[in-house]
Order: sequence, then structure tokens, then C-alpha cells
Amino acid sequence: MNVARGERAWTEVNLDNLTHNLKVIEEHMQKGCKVMAVVKANAYGHGSIPVSMHLAKIGVRNFAVATIDEAIELREAGLQGDILILGFTSPERGKELVDYDLIQTVTDCSYGEKLSCLGFPVKVHIKVDTGMHRLGELCGNSVKIKDLFHRDNLKICGIFTHLSAADSRKSDDVEFTKNQIYMFYCLLRQLKKEGITLPEIHIQGSYGFLNYSELKCDYIRMGIALYGVLSEKENPTELTLDLKPVLELKSKVVLVRELDTGEKVSYGGFFSAERKTVEAVISVGYADGIPREFSCGKGHVLINGKEAPIIGRVCMDQLMADVTDIPGVKEGDTVTLIGCDGGKELTAEDAAFSAGTITNDILTRLGSRLKRIYIG
Ligand SMILES: *Cc1c(COP(=O)(O)O)cnc(C)c1O
Repeated sequence: MNVARGERAWTEVNLDNLTHNLKVIEEHMQKGCKVMAVVKANAYGHGSIPVSMHLAKIGVRNFAVATIDEAIELREAGLQGDILILGFTSPERGKELVDYDLIQTVTDCSYGEKLSCLGFPVKVHIKVDTGMHRLGELCGNSVKIKDLFHRDNLKICGIFTHLSAADSRKSDDVEFTKNQIYMFYCLLRQLKKEGITLPEIHIQGSYGFLNYSELKCDYIRMGIALYGVLSEKENPTELTLDLKPVLELKSKVVLVRELDTGEKVSYGGFFSAERKTVEAVISVGYADGIPREFSCGKGHVLINGKEAPIIGRVCMDQLMADVTDIPGVKEGDTVTLIGCDGGKELTAEDAAFSAGTITNDILTRLGSRLKRIYIG
């Protein structure tokens, strides 16, 4: 493609597809509920500043990141609206929370107390643990949670929990999830009974939305679905939406060579040609985020609209494919690792499956050497 003339490896980020996904998601949300766009980890590898600025332009007012530095980067780029930090921030950096008008997650009550002792008001959302056992105050500690609401310097704008098995339709996982939701609502009811005016609430991420879309909350923390993919392939959800992948990952053929029968390829010689073979050397490797698990035929690429297996081990900066069955492959040809070429598509879900992981992992590991080209 023209846009990438001279590039060795790049991602194409289609902002029109991002717009499309937001629209489709919003159409299926409960009335009054808003998207909180999760743009942590460089917007899942899509580029947090361009993605967030685009989302802001099309009406998104709420964002979530994992770290205070991710949040500051967005503010310094001029992003307006709420930014919630989902992870832990050292109270030593409390002043920056205020300077940049950020919202901090209260990871448990004793952390909340520390924040409230900083001597200035801090905006927070309280996180409640209903079974994930990562961050959050235990749901059963309603008295301690209630006390946070009476502390002077905590401006509590939200309270939320996180579902740990919302992607599964297995009956015990569904039961577990429903119990998480039930416990959270019990806590809210309890707080209300104690005279607390409830702040805004949120429970679901992408899978919480796709499998439990009937919940009535103020926000959905939308990550992977916004980027138009699901975490795994063949993972059916209650709600199936017409989402469009936002990202394509491409590289180039830099050398085409012929191998005689018996000649080996790459470190360790794990590929040995069983016939006269045409090999394409492609300028992308594991330092760019290509899983090393793609080695030796596990992963595939598209060239000239056809699929070619990766042969030998994936190297740091390069990988090789067997293009014997694709006529006319030449230096400079575009190679698609994620995306469409001709009538064929390799999805991020396919890539994740090949690497034995989830798309979130594949996308967020895409490296800084990849140029990002924005379309739309
Ligand atoms: C990352 C994250 C999300 C987004 O999850 P997706 O499955 O990508 O939508 C939501 N909530 C929390 C607490 C997260 O850490």
C-alpha cells in the first residue's frame, strides 16, 4: 500500500472502523449508560493519543487507563473529559492526580485513607472486590466502605467492580458472575440504606457487556470490543455485534530466495526443505511484537492474497515464510500478519490462537518500531 512506502513493518489503524464500533456498541447499550473507553497499554497497541483524541471528537467523554503516566500523557496531548486510573498510584504522586485532574481508583480502604490524608481533595472511584481478588476492597466490608464516603478529601465520583469470568457461558461461570453482580448490588443497597448518595456505578468490561448487556449502569469500561475484536476466536457471546477490526499489521518481503531439498532455515535449523522451496524473508520479528510462538508453521502470513506458513524460528527482526505455492512473490511485496489481503483475512483472533494466547496480549505487545498509519 502507498501509505507505507519505504516502511519495514507497520500497523494501519482504521479510525472509521473505530467510529463504527462505538456506534454499534452504543446502539446496544442500556439507556443512560455511557462508554468509558479503555485506552490503557497504548490503546491496546493502537496508539493512545490518536485513538483517544478521535474518540473525544466523536463524543466520548470518559476514558480509563492503567497508570498515572498514561493519564498524564493524554492530558498533555490535550485530551479533555474524565480519565480514570484503573491501577495503583503511589500516594506520593497524589499532587499530580490533582494537577492533571485525574480520577484515581481506590484499591482498598486503607489506600483510600492514605489518599484522604494528603491534605487536598482527590477525585476517586472506589473499587470493590466481588471475587476477582485483584484490586478492590472486599465487598463484605460495607462499613469500611461507607466510612470512606465521610472522609473530607475524597471526592467519590464512582464505585465499581470487575467481573472475572464474564467471557464464559459455562453454567458455573455464569453462576459465579451473577453472584458477583448480586453482591455488588447488595453493597450498593446497603450503602443507600445508610444514607449514602450513590455515585456513578460500573461493572462490565467488553465481555460483561456482550454477555450481560441487560445490566443498568452508568458506564461500561469498553476495551477490546471497541477495537473490533474479541479476546478469543469461537468464543460465543450472548450479544453478537457487527464489529470491525481497527488494526492491521503489515510488513514487507525484503528478499526472495530458493532452497534446495534438505536446506535448513533460521536459528537451530528447525525447518528443513522437503522439496525445492521458495522462501520469502520478511522484515518483522519478535522485537516488533510478533509472537515467537509463530515459529515453525504455527503462524501464517498473507502475500498476494494467499496464505503462507512461517518457516523456522521467528527472529528478533525478521521471519521467513514458505511461498513456493504463491507465484511471483518479489521483494517489496506487502505481507499481512493481521488483516485482509485479497479475499483472505488473518484476524487478531487467528494470530492469538496460533500463539496460544488472547488478542489483548497480541495487540498490546506490538512494538515501538512499528510505524502507525492512521486511516480515516
Ligand atoms: C482492562 C480493563 C477493562 C477492559 O477490558 P476489556 O475486556 O478489554 O473490555 C475493564 N476493566 C478493568 C478493571 C480493566 O483492567
